[in-house]
Amino acid sequence: MSPLSNIASWVNSPGLNWSQIIISLSTAKFIFMSYMNIRQLGVLQRGKPPKTLEAEAMQAAYDKSRAYSLDKIKCSIAFDIWLYCDSLIYIKFNVYLALWQASAYASSVLPGSAKGEITQSVLLAAIELLAHNLIILPFMYYRDFYLEEKHDFNNSTSSQWLIDKSKESLILLVIHSALIAGTLKVVELAEDLFIWYTWLFISIFIIVVGTLYPYLILPLFYKSKPLGLGKLKDSIDSLAHKNGFPLANVNVVNGSKTSSHTSAFFTGFPWSKHIFLYDTMVDKFEVEETTAVLAHEIGHWALNHMLIQSVYLQLRVLLILSAFSLFYRNPYLYSSFGFNHTPVYVKFGIFCYILTPMNCALQFMSNVLSRKHEYEADAYAVNQSYREHTATALVKNYKNNGGVLDAHWLYSAYHHSHPLLHERLQAIKQVSHKIK
Ligand SMILES: [Zn+2]
Repeated sequence: MSPLSNIASWVNSPGLNWSQIIISLSTAKFIFMSYMNIRQLGVLQRGKPPKTLEAEAMQAAYDKSRAYSLDKIKCSIAFDIWLYCDSLIYIKFNVYLALWQASAYASSVLPGSAKGEITQSVLLAAIELLAHNLIILPFMYYRDFYLEEKHDFNNSTSSQWLIDKSKESLILLVIHSALIAGTLKVVELAEDLFIWYTWLFISIFIIVVGTLYPYLILPLFYKSKPLGLGKLKDSIDSLAHKNGFPLANVNVVNGSKTSSHTSAFFTGFPWSKHIFLYDTMVDKFEVEETTAVLAHEIGHWALNHMLIQSVYLQLRVLLILSAFSLFYRNPYLYSSFGFNHTPVYVKFGIFCYILTPMNCALQFMSNVLSRKHEYEADAYAVNQSYREHTATALVKNYKNNGGVLDAHWLYSAYHHSHPLLHERLQAIKQVSHKIK
């Protein structure tokens, strides 16, 4: 017997108390998250920046970032407690079954041809999304209108915020519904080979949505216009030319409409790339600093980081689907949530609770990969002779975004996809020494 079939026969045995196992997994995750939050709280209360930042005369920025991070972490402690209680209620009171019955009621008004498991699953997902949004809405409002406002990051108004949140939910609902309906159809058609076909479908879906995002979704929230002729445009054009980067155009996004955080990214097809710069960055950064930020972004492209991340994401989806196949025909798991005949979408929803430890491990791995790429892209920009401006742009970026300047190692390993500022400055120094 292979190790996989051993696991399969163990998880499918009748003696397991699944309700208790899932509560234990949720509790373990809650304890783990709380432990990390408390350790991080301890680091932030220390009040002294890391050594490298002392040299950068960053005490004022550190104090500001510390006050912002302290408020944020207190908010996330309350949020974690709230989510934990929510998941306990879900498990203890068979909320899934009640929601499935509610979706059956909602689908009963539809014409006969539209009824069926797929439609009902899409309706269930819509009800879940609505319920989840209502649960987290008070936290979102507090975060954006008390916390961000207090630290001078919020530029939005209540009505703008409500419009944006409604738009976000609607778009999410459309994408989510298309993904669920498509996936369930593939599962239905592929039968026993569903892992491979579902994997293929989800991988294509992620690539298509990711590529179309700046063209279809971003314009619904922000307006962008081409960057005008001038020193910055010349500098970006010559950087792209030097690196053989297939630049189609550079756009400035009115990010300052909602927030004063700074950002830049690029997207597009392999033969035609579009750079997006937030107006906050164009206003606050020197031309050389913005160019250094883009040299870092072009570094991600030249070193194939997007391709590697995409392969990693696809492997992650495959791993999750393979794990799901072990539980797919487990009657004991689903009956502990009150189901006799369990629809595929509900099976996956319940399975996600079991996935908790694996998801935590994958989160650490994703961050290791992403941090490695950040160091490599910084080194790429330094090698393009932007050593000084990569460093000053980083410092400005952290100052403008109130980025975390100090963190407990475990908290950082779990929560931060980017290395801390002092780690990046240190690495830039080392790369510069090597070049000399
Ligand atoms: Zn980067």
